[in-house]
Amino acid sequence: MAHRVWFRTYPAGEVRRPPVDLNGGVEILTDAATLALYTTDASNYRHVPRGVALPRTVDDVVAAVASARDRDLPVIARGGGTSVAGNACGPGLVVDTSRHLGGVLSLDPSTRLARVLPGTVLDDLQAAAAPHGLRFGPDPSTHSRCTLGGMIGNNACGSHSVAWGRTVDVVRSLEVLLYDGTRLRVGPDEPTEGRIFDELRALVRDNLALLRKELSTWPRRVSGYGLEHLLPENGFDVAKALVGSEGTCVTILEATVSLARLPDRKVLAVLGFPSDIAAADAAPSILPWSPLTVEGVDAELVAMLPGRAGDLPPGGAWLFVELAGDDPASRARDLAASLDLTGFAVLDDPAAQRRLWRIREEGAGLATRLADGSEAWPGWEDAAVPPERLGAYLREFKELMRAHGRRSVVYGHYGEGCLHLRLDFDLLSSGGVADFRRFLEEAADLVAAHGGSLSGEHGDGQARSELLSRMYSPEMMDVFARFKAIFDPAGRMNPGILVAPRPIDADLRVRSTSSSFEDSVFLGYPEDRGSFGQAMRRCVGVGKCRNTSGGGVMCPSYRATREEQHSTRGRAHLLAEMINGEVVTDGWRSTEVRDALDLCLSCKGCLSDCPVDVDMATYKAEFLHQHHRRRLRPASHYSMGWLPLWLRLSARVPRLANAVGRSRLAGLVKRLGGIAAERELPTFAPSPFTSSRADLRRKASGERRVVLWPDSFNNYLTPSVLDAAHEVLTAAGYDVVLPDRGVCCGLTWVSTGQLGIARRVLDRTLSVLAPYLEDGYEVAGLEPSCTALFRGDLPALMPGDARAELLASRTFTFAELLERAPIPFAALDVDAITQVHCHQHAVLGFGADESALAAAGVRNTTLDSGCCGLAGNFGFERGHYDVSKAVAEDRMLPAIRAAAPDTVVVSDGFSCRTQIAQESGRTPVHLAELLRRALP
Ligand SMILES: Cc1cc2nc3c(=O)[nH]c(=O)nc-3n(C[C@H](O)[C@H](O)[C@H](O)COP(=O)(O)OP(=O)(O)OC[C@H]3O[C@@H](n4cnc5c(N)ncnc54)[C@H](O)[C@@H]3O)c2cc1C
Ligand code: SF4
Ligand code: SF4
Repeated sequence: MAHRVWFRTYPAGEVRRPPVDLNGGVEILTDAATLALYTTDASNYRHVPRGVALPRTVDDVVAAVASARDRDLPVIARGGGTSVAGNACGPGLVVDTSRHLGGVLSLDPSTRLARVLPGTVLDDLQAAAAPHGLRFGPDPSTHSRCTLGGMIGNNACGSHSVAWGRTVDVVRSLEVLLYDGTRLRVGPDEPTEGRIFDELRALVRDNLALLRKELSTWPRRVSGYGLEHLLPENGFDVAKALVGSEGTCVTILEATVSLARLPDRKVLAVLGFPSDIAAADAAPSILPWSPLTVEGVDAELVAMLPGRAGDLPPGGAWLFVELAGDDPASRARDLAASLDLTGFAVLDDPAAQRRLWRIREEGAGLATRLADGSEAWPGWEDAAVPPERLGAYLREFKELMRAHGRRSVVYGHYGEGCLHLRLDFDLLSSGGVADFRRFLEEAADLVAAHGGSLSGEHGDGQARSELLSRMYSPEMMDVFARFKAIFDPAGRMNPGILVAPRPIDADLRVRSTSSSFEDSVFLGYPEDRGSFGQAMRRCVGVGKCRNTSGGGVMCPSYRATREEQHSTRGRAHLLAEMINGEVVTDGWRSTEVRDALDLCLSCKGCLSDCPVDVDMATYKAEFLHQHHRRRLRPASHYSMGWLPLWLRLSARVPRLANAVGRSRLAGLVKRLGGIAAERELPTFAPSPFTSSRADLRRKASGERRVVLWPDSFNNYLTPSVLDAAHEVLTAAGYDVVLPDRGVCCGLTWVSTGQLGIARRVLDRTLSVLAPYLEDGYEVAGLEPSCTALFRGDLPALMPGDARAELLASRTFTFAELLERAPIPFAALDVDAITQVHCHQHAVLGFGADESALAAAGVRNTTLDSGCCGLAGNFGFERGHYDVSKAVAEDRMLPAIRAAAPDTVVVSDGFSCRTQIAQESGRTPVHLAELLRRALP
């Protein structure tokens, strides 16, 4: 009997409620937390599943489906859950293959065929294919987390489909499972005897003319079933006919797919047009040049990426056209010359190409908010028309938007007539939902009038299935129903999708997050118009936080555990379910939400790396505050939450404190304080900086007056950092002083959710600093987490406090101050690697630090190594050591171990320096300490 032990988050080792054990021993989770995690995908819809299976083998899938059959439960197959139309959520047994059932079973470069399991993430297949000069052709923007099963389910396409085809074009054969337990291999070379094939042949025979007439073969007809592949002239290909069936007929157990050859070299031509309609009109004329992509973005989307417009040639819309083959650069220039453009650029350099592609890739996530911060939703996000109709369709569609008073940014696969948009529907009011329905109906009629497809890429899901009858004749709808019934006569496979549809305006998840919690929240949520509910609706399920291979910081806990509940998305969904109250029933007291947040490092990686800036560190602080209100807290909240106080007390007797830290008593101290046994306690400096340099508690004079921020970590534990900063800033011409009384930014109380105390601490600090700020002083921050708190979190913590706004605008990093008063450093001539603190990555930026290092002759490599894993109190807390270490081992520690012994390791964060020292044995330095060596 297989029992699943979830990742240990508490010392007692919390085990999820016992899973229902099935025939083959597969685990099915029915606990509230798991159900809450799977209520939605990246769509507007919400369905509470009855259970979630996480199969490890194909036999587990078979057992899970058998169990559903025994209980007459629907089956909803699921991969990465990035479907935008409600294709991958439903009120049945969700079979999630993405957790354990991925892998490339074989890859034959000579035949260019790969056999894959359904949970294989596309990037993993690409990584296996690349060494052979091969790749999987279709490339959805979600490539870092979408699975082959989900791509086949939706017939996923991508920006290169114009050249390398859609998923249906590259699927060779499938092994599939029917609801009744039948296993079949389907494909052109597989046997076609038996009931299923006989009935399929009869279906085709009875409807030959209809299929030929209605199922045209232009590339983006993704809506409905792909029954044209059953026509005799198309080889009666059952595998291809099942591509795009959205889990409504079969569960895919294995797939054989063909791979494309990578071009040796390609260039990216960015072509500027006066408007998106002009770009749409021009797109078909590019197709004869055999492009690899013809992708469009409009100016509104680019405007949402600060600082990126300058990367593009002049224009109001752009087409991104990739060309390969012979001399692609001069062909790109010839192409540009043949068009009426506002400007163009041809990029040869792969890094420059990648930078521009990021604009397009992040488009979908960015488009979830309009420039003024209002929310925008999917529903009509991927309709397509034959490319030659695109300009005309776009013109009329814009009229439709105007008539309904709706707005959206527009981007998409212009070369294949597919437009992506997210509209600012009002899904919170009944009137708004009624307009949502009317809009979708009229849009469906418009696209049908242009001979188009309601979905050109994402599939129909709940968002479009009801509208299919506006695109297809009643006879064709009957044929679709008959097709499904051949595989699934009981109608238990992903019911409500494609056939017998659920209404497009039912089950809307956003309606359930109009927060009744608004009155009780503590923080200000200035980025969400002060609304906690709006903040909770930020996560649109795009799943970028489930990325395990790319750069950036988000999300270290998911990278370490690969559990949905430890991804930003999982946490966001649990919080949304907490507001909803149906599955997670005990509000702020929820243990489900507490457990999911327990492994959140509060690293703020999501604040910068999530396309819609989900700020989980802030939501965690709010939750912990509310959860523990008027209750006994975990010991670590008293030890590490109150750290500044303990540091101040211990610093009076540093030798005694250090002796205790090295003695047997240390174990007792750690136990009482909820500190991980594996951690060494920090060593106190003989004297805090504020004591040894009490002379700096004076008034400054001159133009450049700076208050050096004596953060608790550097002040009590590494005062040499403050000393070095003082020396360097003085050399740069600043008159550097210390505040005349004790100050604290309150960070440790914020991260442990003791927000009332944090606010009182900050209020006191603001009173101390106010006279300096009013007198024109600036504040120099050495510890990135304190500096980021002032610059980023203050408005939420102290809403409406003018002193807080002043402090936020006058706080600078050490390197930023040097940028404004450069020093002629002596050249150090050393190599360095830098671990950037994750709050610096998210809030402050690292450009000034790189300039300062370069000015001092340091050959620096800034690591893209994510979070260090210690993250303030996180890595010190009991029960977190394993995850803390795993996060560090993801990228940071291997990079440090690989550095030559004489390479300087630079790190401004106290946590990062501690983690590096404890886990690698290297002794990192703060930037200020390194630059002090370069003073002339
Ligand atoms: C920001 C964003 C950008 C996107 N960009 C693109 C894009 O460029 N191109 C594109 O085509 N799509 C895009 N999508 C849609 C989506 O990412 C793709 O369709 C993707 O292939 C879905 O993969 P998944 O693993 O997440 O599947 P899921 O969402 O989990 O499932 C997709 C469908 O397949 C079914 N399914 C899953 N596994 C199986 C199985 N084993 N057997 C049978 N059926 C199964 C599900 O029931 C569901 O109907 C985007 C989505 C988002 C949120
Ligand atoms: S947290 Fe951000 S990246 Fe993750 S799913 Fe939600 S919106 Fe996407
Ligand atoms: S703060 Fe960090 S650990 Fe927490 S959800 Fe965001 S990225 Fe993940």
